[in-house]
Amino acid sequence: MCWHILGAGSLGSLWATRLARAGLPVRLILRNEARLAAYHAHGGLVLNEGGQRQTFAIPAQSAASAEPVERLLVACKAYDAERAVASIASRLVDGAEVLLLQNGLGSQDAVAAMIPKARCIFVSSTEGAFCNPPWNVVFAGQGFNWLGDTTQTPPPWLDELSAAGIPHQWTADILDRLWRKLALNCAINPLTVLHACTNGALLRQGEEVRALCDELVQVLNACGRPGAATGLHDEVNRVIQATAANYSSMYQDVAHGRRTEISYLLGYLCAKAVEHGCPAPELNRVRERLTAHLVAKGLPSD
Ligand code: NAP
Repeated sequence: MCWHILGAGSLGSLWATRLARAGLPVRLILRNEARLAAYHAHGGLVLNEGGQRQTFAIPAQSAASAEPVERLLVACKAYDAERAVASIASRLVDGAEVLLLQNGLGSQDAVAAMIPKARCIFVSSTEGAFCNPPWNVVFAGQGFNWLGDTTQTPPPWLDELSAAGIPHQWTADILDRLWRKLALNCAINPLTVLHACTNGALLRQGEEVRALCDELVQVLNACGRPGAATGLHDEVNRVIQATAANYSSMYQDVAHGRRTEISYLLGYLCAKAVEHGCPAPELNRVRERLTAHLVAKGLPSD
C-alpha cells in the first residue's frame, strides 16, 4: 500500500525520504500545481543525515489529483491541517488510515470530525528536522515517534516503519503523551520567546516556571489527564537542563518571522481551563503577553 504524504516540509520530507530509501511506495501531495512544478524543477527530495546527502526522486502530485488515498501522513502545521485534509478528503477510501503528526492538540479532533470514515492515528514526535533550502531536509535531532488511536489495536504496517528506520512505538496512552508534550511546551516555549533566551536561560526564571507548572498540573487534572500531570515540574527542569543550549521551536518560529502554533498549544490549554472551570491566571497572563509580542512583531496571534 502506498504512503501518501500531505505536505513536503520538514517532517513530511523526513518521513518520505526514509520510507522511499527502504523501497516503500511513497507519493507526495503538494498544495497546488505551482508547488508541484517547483518540486519537479528541483528533481526530488534531498535527505541530509550525518553529513551524507541523498536525493530521492519521489513521485509527487497536487491535491487535485484523482488517485485514491488509502494511507495518508498529514505533515502540515496544526493551523493548516484541517484545510489541507479537506482538499483531498474526497480521495480517501472508506477506512483509510490517516496519521496526524501535528504538535499540540485541537487540530487532530478537527480533522477526525471531518473524515468520520477514516481511521485517524495520532503521532507524537520528538524527532527534529528543518528544510534549508526548500526540498532539502536536514535530519537535525534523533528522537522517537509514539503512535496511537482510540481502538488500541496496532495497525499491521508498523514493520514498514521499522524497515524505514523510523523509531516508533504503538501506545495505548497517546492522548496522555500529547497532553504531556503540550504541557512541557506551555511551560518552556512561551517564556523563551518572552525572555528572548535559550531553554537553559530559564533556569534564572525558576519562580515563573514553577508557577506555570503548578497551574498546568491543576488544568491537566481538571481535564481528566492526571497521568500527564505527574512529576511535571521535575520533567520541565530536566528538559530545560538537557536542552540548555537550544532555542525552542516557538522561539525559532518567531525569530524567523513564521506563524506559531500558539492556538494549538497555550491557546488550547487556556481554552480547556475555561471549559473545565479551572482558574489559570499565570497561564493566561503569559498567553496575553505572548499574543501582544506576536502582534508587535507583525505575526499572526492565532
Ligand atoms: P513545515 O516544515 O512548515 O512543513 C509543513 C508543510 O505543509 C509545508 O511544506 C507546506 O507546504 C505544507 N502544507 C501546508 N498546507 C498545505 C496544503 N493545503 N496542501 C499541501 N501541503 C500543505 O512544518 P514541520 O516543521 O514539518 O511541522 C509539521 C508538524 O510537525 C507541526 O505541527 C510541527 O509542530 C510538528 N513537529 C515538527 C518537528 C520538526 O522538527 N520540524 C518536530 C516535531 C513535531 P508549502 O511549502 O506549500 O507551504
